[in-house]
Amino acid sequence: MDQSTPEHARPTPDRGGFPPYPEDPLADLDLPAETMRSLGAEVIERVSAHLGSLADLPAGGEIDPDAIVEACRALPRAAPQDPQSLGPILDRYFDEWLPQTFLTPGPGYLAYIPGGGLYASALASFLAAATNRFTGVWAAAPLLAELEGRVLGWIREWMGFPAGSGALLTPGGSISTHTAIVVAREKLLGPEIRSGTMYVSDQVHHCVTKTARLAGIHPDRIRSIPVDERLRLRPEALDQAIAIDRDAGLRPFIVVSSAGTTNTGAIDPLVEIGSIARKNGLWHHVDGAYGAFFHIVPEMRSALAGMSEADSLTLDPHKGLFLPYGTGALLVRDEADLRAVHEVTAGYLPPLPDPEFHDPSRLGPELSRPYRGLPIWLAVQLHGTHRLRAAIGEKRALALWAADRLRELPGITLIDEPQLTVIPFRVEAPGQSDAEIDRRTRALLDGVNRRGRVYLSGATVANRYVARICVLCFRTRGDRVAMAIEDIAASRDEISG
Ligand SMILES: *Cc1c(COP(=O)(O)O)cnc(C)c1O
Repeated sequence: MDQSTPEHARPTPDRGGFPPYPEDPLADLDLPAETMRSLGAEVIERVSAHLGSLADLPAGGEIDPDAIVEACRALPRAAPQDPQSLGPILDRYFDEWLPQTFLTPGPGYLAYIPGGGLYASALASFLAAATNRFTGVWAAAPLLAELEGRVLGWIREWMGFPAGSGALLTPGGSISTHTAIVVAREKLLGPEIRSGTMYVSDQVHHCVTKTARLAGIHPDRIRSIPVDERLRLRPEALDQAIAIDRDAGLRPFIVVSSAGTTNTGAIDPLVEIGSIARKNGLWHHVDGAYGAFFHIVPEMRSALAGMSEADSLTLDPHKGLFLPYGTGALLVRDEADLRAVHEVTAGYLPPLPDPEFHDPSRLGPELSRPYRGLPIWLAVQLHGTHRLRAAIGEKRALALWAADRLRELPGITLIDEPQLTVIPFRVEAPGQSDAEIDRRTRALLDGVNRRGRVYLSGATVANRYVARICVLCFRTRGDRVAMAIEDIAASRDEISG
């Protein structure tokens, strides 16, 4: 091996004379401890420098729309046959590829639904992957499974779900929602899927209709219920739609409400929807992918009233608990409903020594899986619940503060008070047509984003274009929200000047 062979690909020095048969040196993929240390140090060094610089980077990333397509096509296609060095790969990752992305972990990212990605959780993901124990079944790693069980216990408690309710970590909100729909379908429809009907508001996240189809509920069985002026599902319209379907011989079985829509953060009237569901024998699923973690903050509980009484709840730790992407969660009021769909009695699976123990494979569709419990567990250990609650509470306070500042800006109209931490607004002037207001709202957004201190996105809501600020990244603090207000004011002056 010459000097150009990367450190990690050099032969292990001493194998103690073993084995007694010819060994293929190329088959050696293991690394000496010293090499692991130096490779790891290189990664940690680059990551720390990058995260330390987030506040200074352009808030929207640096995607050049004219060059990005060619850059994508130019990525190397062939898998290398020989070992490459890590250093130059990290150079390209950090200097070339990473800049050409939305800066989702950055403090100025106020678009879509941010989260940030806690470093503690990233370390936990590394820890979990590097030690690579099997956490799909309890018996293979009982204490690790129980640590995840503790995490799920916290989540139940934070959400006001009863101690024995079913709980599962998932890859994200979409998958949680899919599982919830399957569980409800099994319980209420059994094999007669085709007659089942589902109810959502016209503001529901698109993952609900997508995963409904995966669960065998086709779009012609999904009823889109109109919303009120604050974009919340109208309960009386739900009641009517259920009655119409029932009269037509169909079987209404589930209503999915939103605890915080992505567009405007609207919270559906969960208490009323819950009682309509109960009265009609429907399953009530709440999509709390964006909003559920606000239940940790005492002042927000009344806004989320009814969520804790749902039959099931989607939550996304990778949004409201600031985890890196890839951790969602699902709560199901009656754990037996989750088990009814997922528990298999393979002969080689021993019974759990305690029914309270957490065995993910009996509650969800996965078998082999990443150890998702550790990133939440470690974040809670390293930060503590007081600080996590303070961070979530501060995002709400910042949204209220920003709404007050926006209201003071002439020409800017809030289309709603923030129900969570989205502030939706338009650039309006008397006598202007909707199309003109749409155009000016887009122009304002472009002006703000061009300044590069914050990055906002818009949404089409009830055929109108709405700009929005969404405060949810833990790195977004008061200074950055103040910059958002300044840049909105400056951009508004530009378009009216
Ligand atoms: C993000 C989001 C989803 C989808 O969750 P993923 O984790 O991206 O799969 C669903 N509903 C709402 C309201 C969301 O904000």
